[in-house]
Amino acid sequence: DIVLFNSFFNRIIDRFEMSKSDKVMFERLFPEASYYVEIDTDKVTQVIDNIISNAIKYSPDGGNIRFGFTVQGDMLKVMISDDGMGIPKENVGRIFDRFYRVDRARARSMGGTGLGLAIAREMIEAHGGKIWAESEEGQGTTVFFTLPLNLDDFDEAGEWE
Ligand code: ATP
Ligand code: MG
Repeated sequence: DIVLFNSFFNRIIDRFEMSKSDKVMFERLFPEASYYVEIDTDKVTQVIDNIISNAIKYSPDGGNIRFGFTVQGDMLKVMISDDGMGIPKENVGRIFDRFYRVDRARARSMGGTGLGLAIAREMIEAHGGKIWAESEEGQGTTVFFTLPLNLDDFDEAGEWE
């Protein structure tokens, strides 16, 4: 389906915002411009659900989760950023591997299978996009992914806040 990414992303964030605890605050850093993407909405919803669930799961009390997107070439670049415990530099590249979890203690206390991001990578790559993360231990994590823009409806480039 061809969807207006701005409202598609808003609806997903709204759903989490209704059920989240007040210990985490959401911040939407959205551009003014409208961006259209041609995606399998169920699959991309699953990708974003996992990234947001992780961000909430690893956020401290009083943490902020920031949501944004911008244009990079002919791709839409989406970012979801948290103030959580972060991931050691040497492990950041591995979180998209099947069953990979950063440490056993974290895995035991947090639940989950370690498949979420591996599935996310498969789905994003099937759309012709890429997914990656940047993280600073003790500071937080930002997950980025790209999706091909539907340039027929291209408007103007937005910028990060
Ligand atoms: P599942 O998603 O299958 O329920 P999971 O959340 O453990 O389990 P992934 O979503 O694939 O698995 O994430 C893999 C690992 O990457 C996590 O176990 C965690 O160690 C680390 N990780 C992912 N997102 C974050 C984040 N925002 N902050 C800190 N660590 C993260
Ligand atoms: Mg997960």
